[in-house]
Amino acid sequence: MLIQRQETKILATLGPASFSPEMIRALILKGTDGFRINMSHEKAGDLAARVQAVRSAAAQENAAVAVVVDLGGPKIRVGTLPNGQINLVDGGQPILGADIPVSHPEILTDIRPGHRILMDDGKLELEVLGVVPNGVKTRVRVGGLLLQGKGVNLPDTELRLPALTDKDIEDLAAAVRAEADYVSLSFVQRPGDLLLARREAERHGRCPLLIAKIEKPQAVDRFEEILKVSDGVMVARGDLGVEVSPARVPVLQKHFISRCNAQGKTVITATQMLESMIQNPRPTRAEASDVANAVWDGTDAVMLSGETAIGRYPLECVGMMRDIIAEAEKAAPHRREPFPDATRVHALASAAVDAAEELHARAIVIITLSGFTAQMVAQRRPSVPLIAVVPELRIRNRLALVWGILPVIVPWGDNSDGLLAGMEKILVASGYIQLKDTIIIISGSTRLRGADYIMKIQAPSEP
Ligand code: PEP
Repeated sequence: MLIQRQETKILATLGPASFSPEMIRALILKGTDGFRINMSHEKAGDLAARVQAVRSAAAQENAAVAVVVDLGGPKIRVGTLPNGQINLVDGGQPILGADIPVSHPEILTDIRPGHRILMDDGKLELEVLGVVPNGVKTRVRVGGLLLQGKGVNLPDTELRLPALTDKDIEDLAAAVRAEADYVSLSFVQRPGDLLLARREAERHGRCPLLIAKIEKPQAVDRFEEILKVSDGVMVARGDLGVEVSPARVPVLQKHFISRCNAQGKTVITATQMLESMIQNPRPTRAEASDVANAVWDGTDAVMLSGETAIGRYPLECVGMMRDIIAEAEKAAPHRREPFPDATRVHALASAAVDAAEELHARAIVIITLSGFTAQMVAQRRPSVPLIAVVPELRIRNRLALVWGILPVIVPWGDNSDGLLAGMEKILVASGYIQLKDTIIIISGSTRLRGADYIMKIQAPSEP
């Protein structure tokens, strides 16, 4: 049996359209590799049950499936308005904090004259004129009807808001307790935001992998420093498109993906990928092209938001995404970024990929304790299938979101011979490889005697 090759992974957001165990199972069978739980719409108390629903469905299908808990972060919203709304007339001078209340009034002291204030997904725009005793005086540049509860974006303002709100802290603790695989942080501005989340998570147990959502201009400017302290990145194109111009989003997407690829860090491309499928059974041609372009950019995963959370066609969305990915992957080879530095694992990964491509191997089998060696082989974007042999469910679930990797659990035992024999049995029985196949086996640091940093070419004898 040929290994099913679908290198780019699919992350689907859970919501009312997909909470049921039957739907979660069906989404997995359609090709979903991970589920995002959006804490902007969830309570900490419900998280364990949501995670458990995914774990049960994944266990029933014996599938590797990741859980990403997405913290809402310090999202600023319009507060309560008389009659729930206010009409903003072009050239009018409303006071932010008085005429337009906001959910975090402490931001008012960070705002300076000339800063832009965007509301309702960037549809309305104010310009700051100056500070007045009861708030910030503004001029309406683009007016319209503003409803309470709409989002407020301050692209020019460095906010001193804490990176984690009280709700985020509670949600993060619940995510650690529920053993989520990834936690993503919204509105990251600085590397310290990630360090704070890591410290906070560690107070409750083992910190999940941390994903920085890049959606603020401050995060764009500090991308390299943020990348250093994150386990991965989400190109959060929704808020990013409001905070910087939508015109910059494609270029930034390409840049972030290529930098993550170079470092071997996981990158997720998010938001509005198949937006019109919230209502319609087929996407627009532009949406299909968008998914394909993210694949060609080198993203690890593409994400569905409202499409699977509240849409009418969650299964069709995953099916369509899978078909677009399959076509895109057939059409163009993946770009290979140079490794950032010289290490044993990098050298091993390069050697394994060279050998596998030279010998047209059936697969590269990567024995990996933490998943790191597998990620570094995936970094090479090889044309040969990748099987990661891992000791535990936790690592298998994480790797479910990493480009190209099919993670398989094999009992580790206490010596390398036992592991190799056990591994071969399982991979053959699962149909992933046959005994006559040429395979390349590598391992990084395994803590098994004789199995550290090795590469083996297993092939039928040559004539
Ligand atoms: C985004 O803004 O693109 C995003 C992914 O964040 P959220 O869906 O949480 O608003």
